[in-house]
Formats: sequence, structure tokens, C-alpha cells
Amino acid sequence: MDDNTKKILREIPKIDEVLLFLKKDAVSNAFSKDLVVTTCREVVDKIRRSIIVAGEKGKQLPSAITVEGAAVEVKERLMQLRSYKLRRVINATGIILHTNLGRAPLCDEALERVVEVSRGYSNLEFDLVEGKRGLRYDHVKETLCSVSGAEDALIVNNNAAAVLLALNTLSEDRESIVSRGELIEIGGEFRIPEVMEKSGAILREVGTTNRTHLEDYEDAIGNETGLIMKVHTSNFRITGFTEEVELSQLVALGRREGIPVMDDLGSGCFIDLGRFGFDREPTVQEVLQTGVDVVTFSGDKLLGGPQAGIIMGKREIIGRIKKNPLNRALRIDKLTLAALEATMQHYLNPDDALSNIKALRSLTEPLKEIEGRAKKLLGLLNRASIEGLTFSLKEGKSMAGGGSLPTQEIPTVLLSVKTLNLSTNRAEERLRGVDVPIITRISEDELLFDLRTIGEDDFSFIESGLKIIAHQDVC
Ligand SMILES: *Cc1c(COP(=O)(O)O)cnc(C)c1O
Repeated sequence: MDDNTKKILREIPKIDEVLLFLKKDAVSNAFSKDLVVTTCREVVDKIRRSIIVAGEKGKQLPSAITVEGAAVEVKERLMQLRSYKLRRVINATGIILHTNLGRAPLCDEALERVVEVSRGYSNLEFDLVEGKRGLRYDHVKETLCSVSGAEDALIVNNNAAAVLLALNTLSEDRESIVSRGELIEIGGEFRIPEVMEKSGAILREVGTTNRTHLEDYEDAIGNETGLIMKVHTSNFRITGFTEEVELSQLVALGRREGIPVMDDLGSGCFIDLGRFGFDREPTVQEVLQTGVDVVTFSGDKLLGGPQAGIIMGKREIIGRIKKNPLNRALRIDKLTLAALEATMQHYLNPDDALSNIKALRSLTEPLKEIEGRAKKLLGLLNRASIEGLTFSLKEGKSMAGGGSLPTQEIPTVLLSVKTLNLSTNRAEERLRGVDVPIITRISEDELLFDLRTIGEDDFSFIESGLKIIAHQDVC
């Protein structure tokens, strides 16, 4: 180590000096002493390391290190701890159930119920009539069953947990028969064969990727069979020369052989979206009408509620699932239950659900309305005349996301932003860094904002976000 490096190392402020400097500072006084001391130590250590590294590499050394400079960095680090990391963002991607952006936004009533139920105590597991212990999912069970016609229901942490729990209960150490065309991966490590293995069920694949026949299931049934399972292929479609067995046929087969039949619906929907131009898919009610023993689906996909896994079906089977000790490990919490209960209330009347559940509203909103909103935003931004940015509207396609309705492109209107002094990539990155981050997509050198997932209450944030990125120094 050369003399110059040694000299500068000696000039590094002592931790006590930095602490003394911060003693009357409002920011550092808002944190525990231990945390301030630790942070001072980290900052001083960092300064020391950077000097040593710079000295070794023969780089320019800092001329002087002041106590004040170190204190400023300590304060910055402390303030960073105070800032929220999980934050609201604006979803301009047009993917309605964007898994990375928290899937379904909650309806207003769900938010109110979360606050109401969790501010103080609740009857989460207390039967108010009997005055003794109750079941947490019973609060939502009645609505779920009334809307769907199921005999019984329980709710767990998410649909992955629902599938795991149902498989473990019904098929541990026994074979679950699944078509090769349904051995899917959803993303985020959910793969049917792997979940099955973790559940203790033994996967019995039948048929081929594109075609599976009833005889394939029949031939696979034996003494080891625990379950016949159908899986919604969610995020992909097999088209062309294909054949799958209808759920009703599997239910009849299961009935004949005394084997339970389960359908993992993934994104269960209570409302027929066919009249909004989507390919028709059976609703949860219609699936249950086949007499299937168990269905599972997510709370935060097309249902439009909080993250949850809903398990519904025959009383005897649901009863067994409830008693499984694994259920305790996968259980749903009170905030989620409160939000789910409020979401489910809307389904007592489908029109009410369509207008109040945000994901359904986004999915079914007429193009005319989106166009109107787009023109409003365009007018607002043009009036703001932000230097270096030009705006226009164009047609585009939104997506349902969340593994729902994968092949269906939903017409939408896009705001296209062209950046004159800034690369599109840079602009996209900077929009992620503003106070209320804006998540956009890039196509052919323009920044696209999909108005299907943007509401009028997002406009002021978009305007200020664009102003900020346009005025940040150009580099
Ligand atoms: C999405 C999905 C899951 C996983 O549900 P999560 O709620 O994300 O845990 C399981 N099965 C299918 C068919 C799905 O589409």
C-alpha cells in the first residue's frame, strides 16, 4: 500500500465522529441507535474498502472524506429503509391479470372489508351462534355454494396449494390418471408432474400430447388408481388433429369404477364470457353440474379477487380434504378471506360482478369506451406539450393474462409515445423509476400504453411521469 493511500485511509472519519454529527439530526433520530451505529459502520467500511481497491488498481483516490459526506450517506441509507418497496404501479401493458403485477386488482368493497375485519378482532374461527370454535372458510362457503351449486367448499392459500392438498388427500401413494395433453407448466415453478410428486400421488399418464381417448383412461384404471384428474391447459392450446375426453365422460367413468374425479380449472370463471366475444368456456357452475367430485381454481385470476385457492365439490370429499393436516399449513389468512368474501358477494348478481369486479370490467369493456379514454389522455398530454415527446393513438391487442383465455386477443387502443432525445429503452426504464412506476411495453421504437388497463385516475401519474422522464438530463 502506498503512502498516499495510507494517508487518505487515516483521514476516514471515525464512526464516533459520524455519530456525533448525526446526534441532532431528525432523520437519524427516527431510527434505533443500534441501526444508526450499524449503518455508520457499514458506510465507513465501504469508504475504506473503496480507497483500498482504488489504491491497488492505481485509480484516482478521493481527495478528502468529510464527516458530513459520510453522514449524508448514512442518512440516505436509513431513508431508503423507510421507503416502501412493495408499491402501487400503473399497469400500461394491457395484460389484465399480470402475475408479476399482482394479478387482479381488488374491488372497493374488498378493500373496505379488509380494513374493517383486520383493524381489530374478528370472528375468523369463532361461531357467533354457538359461541365456540368455527371454521375460517365457512364465512365464504355459503356464497360460493349458492353461486356455483357446489355442496361444500374450502379455501387455501392459492390454487397451487389447492391442487397439492386435493391430490395428497385423494391420491397419496395411489395413481392419478392424467392425459399427456394436460401435463402443463404454468410458470413460477408450477408443473403438474412435479406438484403431483410432492403431493405423494403417482402420476399415471395416458394418451398422447394431442389425442387422448376414453379407452386410454379405462385401460389405466386398476387397483392402484386413486383419482382421475383433468387439468385446464390454461396458458396454451393444442389445435389441429386433437381429441380430449369430455369431463362428463370422465365423471361417468369415475362413477362406474368408484374413483373420484377432479378438475383443476386454473382460472375458474362464474360468468359466461361468450357473449363478450370470447371463446366459450364452461363456467364453474357448468363444470360442477357434470357431477365432478372436486374442482380447484384461483381467487385472483378471472374470479378477480385476492390470491386464494378455491376447492369445491362433493361434501364427503371436501370433508376429507378439510381434515388433512396439510390444510393447516396451506391455510388462508383473514385479510384474504375478507377480500374474497366481498368479491364473492358481487357474484350473487352477474351484472353486479361485471360492473364492480375490476378484472371483469377491464376484460369486457367496450372498445368505444376505451377509445374515449384514450382520446382524453391524448388531449391532456398534448396540452401539457412535453418537450421531446410526441403522442398518437393506434389500435392494438390486450390480453387476459394469468393463464386465462391465452389465444384470445382483445381489441384495444394504445397511446404511442415517441421519444426524440431519449432511446425508447431508456424511457421505458425511467418510467419504472418514477414515484408511481409505470410499466409499459416497447414495440418498434415506440413506447405503448394500453388504455384497457389504464383508468382515468392514472392519468395525472402518467402525465407527471412523462414530464419527469422528459426533463431528466439527456444521456
Ligand atoms: C394458474 C393455475 C394454477 C396455479 O394457480 P395459482 O393460484 O397461481 O397458485 C394451477 N393450475 C392451473 C391449471 C392454473 O391455470
